[in-house]
Amino acid sequence: MDGGPTLTLRYPWDTPPEPGKAIEIAEGVLWMRLPLPMKLDHVNVYALDDGDGWTVIDTGFDTGKSRDIWGALLSGPLAGKPVRRVVVTHHHPDHIGLAGWFQTEHGAELVTTRTAWLFARMLTLDVQTAMPEETRAYYQGAGMDPELLAERIAERPFNYSDMVAPMPLGFTRVQQGDVIRMGGRDWDVHMGNGHAPEHATFWSRDDNLVISGDQILSSISPNIGVYATEPQADPLADWLEACERLSHLARPEQIALGGHKLPFVGLPLRMRQLIENHHSGLRRLLDYLDTPKSASACFAPLFKRTIGKGEYGLALVEAVAHVNHLYHTGQVTRTRGEDGAWLYQRRE
Ligand SMILES: [Zn+2]
Repeated sequence: MDGGPTLTLRYPWDTPPEPGKAIEIAEGVLWMRLPLPMKLDHVNVYALDDGDGWTVIDTGFDTGKSRDIWGALLSGPLAGKPVRRVVVTHHHPDHIGLAGWFQTEHGAELVTTRTAWLFARMLTLDVQTAMPEETRAYYQGAGMDPELLAERIAERPFNYSDMVAPMPLGFTRVQQGDVIRMGGRDWDVHMGNGHAPEHATFWSRDDNLVISGDQILSSISPNIGVYATEPQADPLADWLEACERLSHLARPEQIALGGHKLPFVGLPLRMRQLIENHHSGLRRLLDYLDTPKSASACFAPLFKRTIGKGEYGLALVEAVAHVNHLYHTGQVTRTRGEDGAWLYQRRE
């Protein structure tokens, strides 16, 4: 340590754990992984040793494969002690997918934020056999490629419950400012926002560990998306507020344990990058909006790379988040195009 500013991130472990295996990050803190059937092909989960049982942080999707891997973990690295508690950082299916299963099959207590629980409980019960009219209207407003929209209308929509086990009644709330004891450490609870509303992060008081979920990731920028649930939302404002606030807690010696990719050291630098990435994206976007354009026409300046079909959905909701932010901050105007898409243009 030279005491100077950190210029790059450092990765103390260059190889992730194999399925069914764990890597010990620190005494009583295990890192494990579950596969995801997507371009982002894994999610990180952690187990904290509470003496007479384990606290598990996040769970993976509810798939047969995930349940099998959890079976191997429970009879392997976690053997000998029950999972007494499952702590979920946010409501996305790759994190909360098996929370209900841990509750019903393993008698675990679910600890999460109130918003995460309400969203998860609501969405597991909201099963659609066809695309709702509001979703179609939202995609049209975003300027979704008409061929792709027709394809999506023709197929059964993705349902949250496809990947998330039923959520029984009952959970324990964590909120901003709480202190929670897990793995022999006391952790300050700080809320993230923007990637998911009321996203919990945990900052150890007793050593340098930070459990950051998807609020802070090492080598990918967390998706900031607008959905048909709240088409006028400005999650980018929420994201920037949360990252600015959390950046005051960041120290160069902390090890950040995120929901995806590798654990890393260099939180102060990473927080600056996560914030600046979006500010520079907004600047490029504003430059580009000299003539009216739909959200779907904004991929090139925002992402600076070609967006394949597998990423189109995430790219579109993220593009809407950026134009919504420019709109709500008064930097662009919008009008309806003839095809129903909102067209955004820079205010001169
Ligand atoms: Zn995730």
